[in-house]
Amino acid sequence: MKRFTLKGLSLLLIGAGALVSAPIHASAQEKAEIIIENGFVHDGTGAPWIVADVAISGDRIVAVGNLDDMGAARRIDAEGLHVAPGFIDVHTHAGEGLATKELSHGEPLLAQGLTTVMINPDGGGAVDLAAQREALLKDGIGVNVGLMVPHGSVRREVMGDEDRPADEDDLNAMRELVRKGMEEGAFGLSSGLFYAPGSFAEIAEVVELGKVTGEFGGLYTSHIRDESDYSIGLIGAVDEVIHVAREARIPGIVTHVKALGPRVWGFSEAVIQRIERARAEGVEMWVDQYPYDASATRLSSALIPRKAMAGGTEAMLKRLTDEAELEALRPQIAENLDRRGGADRIQIRTFAPDTDLEGKRLSDIAKARGLDAIDTTVAMLREAEGDVGIVSYNMLESDIARFMQQPWRMTSSDGGLVKMGEGVPHPRSYGSFPRMIAHYARDRKVVPVSKAIHSMTGLPATVYRMKDRGFLREGMVADVVVFNLAQMKDVGTFTDPHHLAEGVDYLIVNGRLSIDDGAFTNAMSGRVLDRNGADKKRGE
Ligand SMILES: [Zn+2]
Repeated sequence: MKRFTLKGLSLLLIGAGALVSAPIHASAQEKAEIIIENGFVHDGTGAPWIVADVAISGDRIVAVGNLDDMGAARRIDAEGLHVAPGFIDVHTHAGEGLATKELSHGEPLLAQGLTTVMINPDGGGAVDLAAQREALLKDGIGVNVGLMVPHGSVRREVMGDEDRPADEDDLNAMRELVRKGMEEGAFGLSSGLFYAPGSFAEIAEVVELGKVTGEFGGLYTSHIRDESDYSIGLIGAVDEVIHVAREARIPGIVTHVKALGPRVWGFSEAVIQRIERARAEGVEMWVDQYPYDASATRLSSALIPRKAMAGGTEAMLKRLTDEAELEALRPQIAENLDRRGGADRIQIRTFAPDTDLEGKRLSDIAKARGLDAIDTTVAMLREAEGDVGIVSYNMLESDIARFMQQPWRMTSSDGGLVKMGEGVPHPRSYGSFPRMIAHYARDRKVVPVSKAIHSMTGLPATVYRMKDRGFLREGMVADVVVFNLAQMKDVGTFTDPHHLAEGVDYLIVNGRLSIDDGAFTNAMSGRVLDRNGADKKRGE
């Protein structure tokens, strides 16, 4: 198939007396390192694809268009394939894994077409970002990594796990840590006000720290205080993010937006109204979302009241062991179980004392033990010293779709880097991005494919103020994915998650091929990104 060429058009226009300058780089003399030919090229803006060639030299995209006359050390035939900016995950727990030699390649991420991930979400992760950067670069990384300053960790460093508001001294100490993180190139502040110790913070504290973030042009992303009706309610918790964005004058993101549990199903409409109204008033609000109807968290976070978590895990376990204290907590644990839709909607994800229980429902484990769900929960928390991971089936497809169709909604994973074959993790760690494109856009047509791509490329780059990523055009960094739309698939499931996603044929990270004809190259060409553009490579 030979397509209509721009060259012919240029000659025609010159013949007609028009002054047309050819693209600077698309000259016959110049030679690119890589030319991806004849693909369906998505520029990341959400516009439908065009048929074009993409030339890459060094770490940059040097030309997009008809490049038949340009020389190249390597030509990749992408006829019938889709070419897009590398995908960006704005919420992942992969930071810890990427800093280990064993997982630093990030293969489950690369297989999804990801070239950049933002770490330290939900208010958790490293406080010392310089040390974190060093750890990430020590053995090299397969993907680019952007850092956030985690509010919960900052608070813990200053105030421990104390359930009290911050005083002026605490606040100043926290301001200092946030400032330091932003100076290290972080993209903003993350919070997890649902989790201890973030849950102990009044919103005024977050506003103050948000202001520090704002001095550096950073943003605020929050796992909101309540995605259900635990405390202030879903709507009240969304209002908190709007409040921080408004008062601190920074962009606000409701991360992994959802209506969690039967009591708030359908509330997506109210959340959307709130965000639309805030935007109409000039408050810059966004959301991100992972394309699954189940979440993952810890058993304790889901079911144990926060009051019982003050002082940390040991203090919590002590309370649960005390008969009288447990009796007093029982009605609240029962409430929380109901919020999650019952023990049948909770699946054990990690349980070190007995890995045979991983993948089983809490209701089935309770039955086998001859206990009720609450006593089973308490027993398992004791046996695992508080560390029990769960998958929680708590979302409605209609809410998911309604959020997904909003123009201010980005795709994220909320996944992590798990060792292949270990535990029964949430499949989002392996499949979020292919699933968004294949399941929700291609098959179910909830959004057009080009919009799905925009939600993981140009949109996050715009929201996070990345200057040279997220779009596929001349001058941008060469983070490029080439995929087969028909074959794209998230293979991992909730009961059998350990499978790499399929459909990505080529992946280029900072100009280097990381997947070549479907095979990993171990290029390890990722960088730690800097909000100000001073990105760091290994050895820098
Ligand atoms: Zn979260």
